[in-house]
Amino acid sequence: MPRPPYDLTTLAARAGEGAWPPGSVPLAEPIYQSTVYAFPDLDALERAMSGEESAPFYYRNGTPNAATLERALAALEGTEAALVAASGMAAISAALLSVLAAGDHVVADARVYGVTYALLAEELPRLGIRTTFVDACDLEAVEAALRPETRLLHVESLTNPLLTVPDLPRLAERVRGRGVLLSVDNTFASPAVFRPAEHGADLVTHSVSKYLSGHSNAFGGVVCGRADLVAAARTRLTRLGGTMSTFDAWMTLQGLKTLGLRMRAHSGNAQAVADVLANHPRVRAVYHPGLSGHPQFERAAELFPHGFGGMLAADIADAPAFVRALAGRIPLAPSLADVVTTLSWPWGTSHRALPEAERRRLGITPGLLRFSVGIEDIGDLLGELEEALAG
Ligand SMILES: *Cc1c(COP(=O)(O)O)cnc(C)c1O
Repeated sequence: MPRPPYDLTTLAARAGEGAWPPGSVPLAEPIYQSTVYAFPDLDALERAMSGEESAPFYYRNGTPNAATLERALAALEGTEAALVAASGMAAISAALLSVLAAGDHVVADARVYGVTYALLAEELPRLGIRTTFVDACDLEAVEAALRPETRLLHVESLTNPLLTVPDLPRLAERVRGRGVLLSVDNTFASPAVFRPAEHGADLVTHSVSKYLSGHSNAFGGVVCGRADLVAAARTRLTRLGGTMSTFDAWMTLQGLKTLGLRMRAHSGNAQAVADVLANHPRVRAVYHPGLSGHPQFERAAELFPHGFGGMLAADIADAPAFVRALAGRIPLAPSLADVVTTLSWPWGTSHRALPEAERRRLGITPGLLRFSVGIEDIGDLLGELEEALAG
């Protein structure tokens, strides 16, 4: 995959610069709130419908704002093409359904996002598609799970909530030439800190509701990859009706402009918070790939030379009191990647469907809090956290 000619910060900031006729042009992308487009004659309509010309015609097939966002996200991930969708799950569903058919087999990391797990474990078997869940950090376990009918290996570049880091280059090596596509959910990292396609991923998915939009005010998903794979996913998504709304595409473009700056701040702040928590007597464990005790510390540093984004988790004694002490300053909110720091509680939210013993086996304890570290001034943030830990 060739490196883009500009730094990601530049590409992201310029997202939305469209092709306009000569003359004065809008500097900011307008919102195209039209469900259908009119054509001057049958030839023009034919060119749009046949795909010979990429002219918009009907909202469900894609809006101009979605097309602008797709060009920007493909450039950021370094892939040929991208397809945006109504949610992260719509994007993942379209990606999986475009690759898989009855009789096919999937190998997936047991730590994938809960709803992705449910899709693989409960929905796809109804279509005759089976999944084996493994620890994707264990290359031998992955190898042992591969079967002649395996078509897809699905992992996350940074997992929720303990931030494990599968060895993507080695996983790509293991499946290459075996008819198995490597699909990577890159939501927790964002392309500003990690680009899976550069390490052998065939499909890269995101919930754009997280870092790509970055302000908890836009909802959507994306599949990035080779043009033919993305075209197949587009056919599935359009028929299933998972089109991204034009307003959410436009809002995501606004957020995307600062992705490079935001991720630098998120990464630096998260490392500083991890360092402070790791040295506090009230904290039983901290999970962050930048701490030397992390199980994939060295591999993570090679793969993520510019930081790991804003996510970390910590097991804190008397967690309910810690959360209460932060009320009005650091909110408890079951999502991530806002510019403000938020906390979430995996035991009671993302992992509540798992049996208690299984949660504990994975390291999800009742005192585990996941931090989505924001871009606030680090002195202010550490001051609030230290005060809450002391109280
Ligand atoms: C949020 C999330 C999803 C699902 O995205 P939605 O936009 O909520 O549908 C998938 N994967 C990961 C890692 C997520 O954090």
